[in-house]
Amino acid sequence: MKSKVIKSKPASTSSTQKSGGRKKSTAAVARAQRLFTALRTRYPNAHCELNWSKPHELLIATILSAQSTDVGVNKATPALFAKFPTPYDFAKASPAAIEPFVKTLNFWRNKAKAVHESMRVVTEQFNGEVPRTMDQLLTLRGVARKTANVVLGNVFHMNEGVVVDTHVGRLARRMGLSKHDDPVDVEMDLMGLFARENWCVLSHLLICHGRSVCKARGELCSQDRICKSFCSNA
Ligand code: SF4
Repeated sequence: MKSKVIKSKPASTSSTQKSGGRKKSTAAVARAQRLFTALRTRYPNAHCELNWSKPHELLIATILSAQSTDVGVNKATPALFAKFPTPYDFAKASPAAIEPFVKTLNFWRNKAKAVHESMRVVTEQFNGEVPRTMDQLLTLRGVARKTANVVLGNVFHMNEGVVVDTHVGRLARRMGLSKHDDPVDVEMDLMGLFARENWCVLSHLLICHGRSVCKARGELCSQDRICKSFCSNA
């Protein structure tokens, strides 16, 4: 699934700070914009790596991706989505019926429950349609801000926040974009630093750099031009 490509715009303090997030200095916003431009140039095709064709499929794939790799989720979901083609099909099944399709993933029992319960609520309270607001998405089992941001940004092209997974959190701290460990705190920092229209693609870019250069172990510090410009470790 390709995310919509949005051309980078010059950052300004007002464009980011009016959009929410933590207040940042003009210099910090300008530095963030330079980093965004460098990442956009390096990874022009950055996009969501989870496979989906319907909104509820990305919601489910994201619920399943907690503590699991996108590759592992993409191996599990084709059979799952074929067996249960609509939210209603998931809702009328039981968690036990979903379990065999997700057993290769961590926390599969809890995830099967979350998938079933979230699709039950989508069916009963949202007329079978994935809701389009942060508040409504957060009422679904297994959905926190990260999952809601994935759905809002990639399905509906709405930049309500920034997806902060382990890669984004690690990169944000290493590159001096946030000092926080808590993902929501990191998100507030990123929202204050980057232009709102770039929030969705920003997480894809940071994930690309995290996977290819700034890995959790064995970082390629000092060998990379973006790192040399933006990270004190280089
Ligand atoms: S210099 Fe090292 S720690 Fe910093 S972003 Fe690059 S790979 Fe990561």
